[in-house]
Amino acid sequence: MKLFISSDIEGTAGIVDWQQVRASGADYELGRQLLTDEVNAAIEGAAGAGATHILVNDSHSTMQNLRPGALHHNASYLSGRHKPLYMMEGLDATFDAVFMVAYHGAIGAEHAILSHTYNPLAVWETRLNGVVAGESALNALVALHHRVPVVLITGDDATAEEARPFLPEVEAVVVKRSITRFAAESLHPDRACELIRDGATRALARAGAVSPPAIELPATLEVTFLTADMAEMSTWIRGVERAGARVVTITDDDPLRLYRTFVTIISLTRSIVER
Ligand SMILES: [Zn+2]
Repeated sequence: MKLFISSDIEGTAGIVDWQQVRASGADYELGRQLLTDEVNAAIEGAAGAGATHILVNDSHSTMQNLRPGALHHNASYLSGRHKPLYMMEGLDATFDAVFMVAYHGAIGAEHAILSHTYNPLAVWETRLNGVVAGESALNALVALHHRVPVVLITGDDATAEEARPFLPEVEAVVVKRSITRFAAESLHPDRACELIRDGATRALARAGAVSPPAIELPATLEVTFLTADMAEMSTWIRGVERAGARVVTITDDDPLRLYRTFVTIISLTRSIVER
């Protein structure tokens, strides 16, 4: 059984601040250790349910947050920058299931720790077929293309809630309760890992019965930016339509092409982000 794990970081129990998730941050070493433990818990749970080949795709920032030697030896590790399929690089139709570990809420969520959608300096909101979409839903487009079910998501309560419309059958493990963007009540890391391990085993055991993501095709993705210039720049890409001063839409019957267009928008607009 082949399992694909996309690991972010902001949804890890105990993490509440950018300085715990950025390589330059004072507490980054703690952040990456907490994340590594949760990823390993997911791997252990999956191995217990019969996963024989596990690929971990590091999906946060420059995508090299896990220490290779500290990662469970049952998994291979895909890391580093400039991956064509970004948070979903490495997934193909030979996989049986997808896990999303340490995910976080979308930028517009009411209570969501470290909320953002790909780029907090550019993206104000994304909607997929009219429903607010976080990174879980956007990344699910790639899983849908390959007809692979997303069976586990871990993170805060906002993450679990926003995934539900697109992943109605997903096993959601909630490891913290968001109070604001910079405050959350977390489980003890050991307890969080225990829940993730059990959730991973349960999720993988029923993977064969879980449908691919529930995203109707052709799908329309609406992206609202912080500035009008970013919306204008996005229309340089074929298939991207201006729908308002700061809004663009893309409609596509191919979910992989839709995701790739979105990733291109994210890459392109980085050039005019203001810091
Ligand atoms: Zn993220």
